Amino acid sequence: MPTCLVTGGAGFLGSHLCDELLCRGHRVICVDNLETGSLANIEHIRTDQFVHVNNDIIEPYHVEEPVDFVYHLASPASPIDYLRLPLHTLKVGSYGTHHTLGLAKKHRARFLIASTSEVYGDPKIHPQPESYWGHVNPIGPRGVYDEAKRYAEALTMAYHRQQGVDTAIVRIFNTYGPRMRPHDGRAIPTFLRQALQHRPITVFGDGAQTRSFCYVDDLVRGIILLAESGYHDPVNIGNPNEFTLLELAQAVIEITGSGSEIVYEALPTDDPQVRQPDIGLARQILGWEPEIELREGLRRTIDQSGIEALVGAAR
Ligand code: NAD
Repeated sequence: MPTCLVTGGAGFLGSHLCDELLCRGHRVICVDNLETGSLANIEHIRTDQFVHVNNDIIEPYHVEEPVDFVYHLASPASPIDYLRLPLHTLKVGSYGTHHTLGLAKKHRARFLIASTSEVYGDPKIHPQPESYWGHVNPIGPRGVYDEAKRYAEALTMAYHRQQGVDTAIVRIFNTYGPRMRPHDGRAIPTFLRQALQHRPITVFGDGAQTRSFCYVDDLVRGIILLAESGYHDPVNIGNPNEFTLLELAQAVIEITGSGSEIVYEALPTDDPQVRQPDIGLARQILGWEPEIELREGLRRTIDQSGIEALVGAAR
């Protein structure tokens, strides 16, 4: 069975990916310095097919045993984290991606990088196909994340074209599910926390901006399909069902049976107005499409997390 190295394996998406790879009988080496992840995300894993290594991938790192797949997910991902860690975010995207691509090259492993829909910035095309080059503000506060990912994509293609590394790029659209941190600032954990505490739900702007939310199990299935394909160019993975933030808030109130009211706060700088993946390519080359709709995914998130975990420590 293959050995998979997962950077960021103690994070939200990474820990679900580790679970699924182990479930399929793979060996998993999780490299994570717990910068934004947590041991709590992997403490349920009890098998000698799993090992966690606490390395900061900004520094060179090595793995002695053979590696067949490298899933490179390590990076601050929520706005709260990358605005707090701007230089770290740029270094993870640059040095961290260099070191991880070098490791994949040495082991002749298939390499997959977790890129993001944020490479499209505030898009002028809707929905966003992979062929769209994006509309990103490089010097705004979000630029550290968006440009780190754009650089990491360029680096990945350079290792592929010049060094012959077998690479893949997944552009992940907003994903949610159990193990999101209640205070990480992203819309779904924030709304769930507020609704479950019957506190006001804070919607940015007038709530007319749109997002498309993918349940984590659908995303992990798509990522593994892409890693196990021979495809090299970027592929969008996300749920094309688009909701306004106001509709999301209303869905959360409905599912939780909350008495929360909706209040409006200032829109963050460079907040994209729309976000919707064109998943035609994923359908065509992977036969992939999401199966879990928003309300079902919200119910699963609540059931599997438990209310205590979603509400988190009092603030
Ligand atoms: P997360 O913050 O939960 O996970 C990131 C993990 O990377 C954490 O466990 C963190 O400790 C680790 N990490 C950070 N810097 C590191 C370093 N220098 N060395 C070693 N480990 C380090 O975030 P997530 O939501 O699970 O996102 C995972 C990946 O998916 C990221 O690359 C993110 O950009 C991408 N992504 C996520 C989403 C989403 O909706 N969750 C959307 C688009 C892209």
